[in-house]
Amino acid sequence: MANREYPLERTRNIGIMAHIDAGKTTLTERILFYTGRNYKIGDTHEGTATMDWMEQEQERGITITSAATTCHWNDNRINIIDTPGHVDFTVEVERSLRVLDGAVCVLDAKGGVEPQTETVWRQADNYNVPRMIFVNKMDIMGADFFGSMKSIVDRLGCHPVAVTLPIGAESDFKGIIDLMKMKAYFYENATGTEVDEEEIPAEYVEQAEEYRQIMIEAIAETDDALMEKFFAEEEITEAELKTALRKACIACELMPVMCGSAYRNKGVQKLLDGVVEYMPAPTDIPAIKGIDPATGEETERHASDEEPFSALVFKVMNDPFVGKLAFFRVYSGTLDSGTYVYNSTKGGKKERVGRILQMHANHREEIDRVYSGDIAAAVGFKISTTGDTICNEDHEVILESMVFPEPVISVAIEPKTKAGRDKMGIALAKLAEEDPTFKTYTDQETGDTIISGMGELHLEIIVDRLLREFKVEANVGAPQVAYKETFRKAVDVEGKFVRQSGGRGQYGHCKVRFYPIPTDAENNYEFVNATVGGSIPKEYIPA
Ligand code: GDP
Repeated sequence: MANREYPLERTRNIGIMAHIDAGKTTLTERILFYTGRNYKIGDTHEGTATMDWMEQEQERGITITSAATTCHWNDNRINIIDTPGHVDFTVEVERSLRVLDGAVCVLDAKGGVEPQTETVWRQADNYNVPRMIFVNKMDIMGADFFGSMKSIVDRLGCHPVAVTLPIGAESDFKGIIDLMKMKAYFYENATGTEVDEEEIPAEYVEQAEEYRQIMIEAIAETDDALMEKFFAEEEITEAELKTALRKACIACELMPVMCGSAYRNKGVQKLLDGVVEYMPAPTDIPAIKGIDPATGEETERHASDEEPFSALVFKVMNDPFVGKLAFFRVYSGTLDSGTYVYNSTKGGKKERVGRILQMHANHREEIDRVYSGDIAAAVGFKISTTGDTICNEDHEVILESMVFPEPVISVAIEPKTKAGRDKMGIALAKLAEEDPTFKTYTDQETGDTIISGMGELHLEIIVDRLLREFKVEANVGAPQVAYKETFRKAVDVEGKFVRQSGGRGQYGHCKVRFYPIPTDAENNYEFVNATVGGSIPKEYIPA
């Protein structure tokens, strides 16, 4: 049996998160290009980007699915877990955040931090995901790296530290200054594969020195030994700085910031270096918690091949080639194809692992064994759904999973022809299996088939998929929005509250309203009810 291809320390499981249009797809696609497993650069304008492989995504220009793609950079394996940017799909963001170890947050250099960036940022806060920031689109009109830095501080309330600076901006954007090496990088050809390392141009030296000093001080503040050196004005080496920044980044104390233009092929390789340098390996993150279903006691699983196998299924999809495909993140142990696992969430039912696949940019690789810390997809699972733990039969565990919000919007749906009825039923059941926030049921009073999801766009996409994938044409009724959702931990700030989990400002066209419920004498609001559309329970209406 093959040994692990990459040591755990050289594995990175990262997500790329952004608001729509910041350039996540373009960046992901460039990453796949530079990491060498992609044949040509497909501009998302033309809809040929490798990650946008669902027709719909291309047409709508949004990324819905949470595909995981494996690539390699300087002897490291990087698994990229795609996270969608649209607010209707925050649950997809949630499920990817659960299984990734670090994230790159992409900003548009003109807009800086936007409302949707804040939404995904807060979700990442909930899972303590270490983050770096890529200020993209340095080439567009109005691009402002320093303004973007300011918006990070003002709106995300974190501590960003610039490790690269742009040389020029807008149409004059030429290259990158690396503040660790104090060198300038110019991208000589159109695809950015020829990179020249040069001295920093004279007119940028002063600015680079100023920002290097800011960077050193920020890093030194997180490390006592470096702080002493800093005050003694002793030389701090690049290696020392990088080690300390890596530690601070993993602890979510500092967020390294880089810049570039994915579209113009500038700065992406530096970002990949940064991912390897600052993002955690599976061994750098705390053990995942779980419970032993036999005893009900708490237990943990560590990133080690020696521990019993445990993994979390984070995405189930119906694939046109192989049928049901279940993406899973291995937390401990190893798994061989052709063996069995236990689905402990479903009460210890057996699942046969037919084949194990690893997804690359443009091919699928069949592998015999998957190791702890890695991400792969299983073919042949029958009962496992998103959020389930699969584990070793003799060492059962139910891992801490993700929380799925209840659907907030419902519509009645009807096939256009009578013949479509059975087909629609089967199709809806399949779609519900893939997506834990999509539900379908029959209204007892009217006998209508009802579908419910996270927003109008979510349901529109379902109806679209019915047509495209299952050839069922359907009519839908008017949306009904009368669900109530409860959020945990909304902490009071002088009568206001801060949401810490769940929720979004808007569901489709309906604004969500939040109502704090005081839980103690100090007026800490622990729970908040959000009522969409429908009536608000009296007890939640503040006096
Ligand atoms: P996503 O919604 O975050 O996935 O964004 P896309 O990658 O689809 O990019 C949105 C639009 O911005 C597309 O038209 C891209 O070609 C364009 N774009 C992405 N990155 C850049 C960039 O660095 N510079 C410029 N000028 N355009 C970009």
